[in-house]
Amino acid sequence: MATARRTRNQERVFQCMKSLEREISAQDLFVELRDRGQSMGLATVYRALEALKLEGVIQVRTLASGESLYSTMKEDRHHITCLQCGESLPLDHCPVHALEQQLNDDHNFKVYYHTLEFYGLCDKCQGPEESRNPVGAGIPDPR
Ligand SMILES: [Zn+2]
Ligand SMILES: [Zn+2]
Repeated sequence: MATARRTRNQERVFQCMKSLEREISAQDLFVELRDRGQSMGLATVYRALEALKLEGVIQVRTLASGESLYSTMKEDRHHITCLQCGESLPLDHCPVHALEQQLNDDHNFKVYYHTLEFYGLCDKCQGPEESRNPVGAGIPDPR
């Protein structure tokens, strides 16, 4: 892993994310930093996230709503996400872990992380017809 020299804001963003130990959107991170007295502009938060992403220490995944969630790199975890209620459940293991090494070998490509998401309807949302109205804005039609 490259030892990039971070700016103070990048370091703050990284430390904040490490202490959170959960996924967070850039907006929520912006609020979190402000609450900790480390306020910085939202654009700065985005730039810091971008730099940390290229450094290979944070990863991002995008929800069905289009929202991006950032997290530190420690976990190789995948989710099944319900398109209707938005519930997102983690899978127990990574189904493609071995593929990373293979890509590394075949293409001499250093894989930092991968994303793999499954979308559909959860147990609850497969219920009666009248409960199947999509909720929220920007959620794509399941078809
Ligand atoms: Zn659901
Ligand atoms: Zn994985």
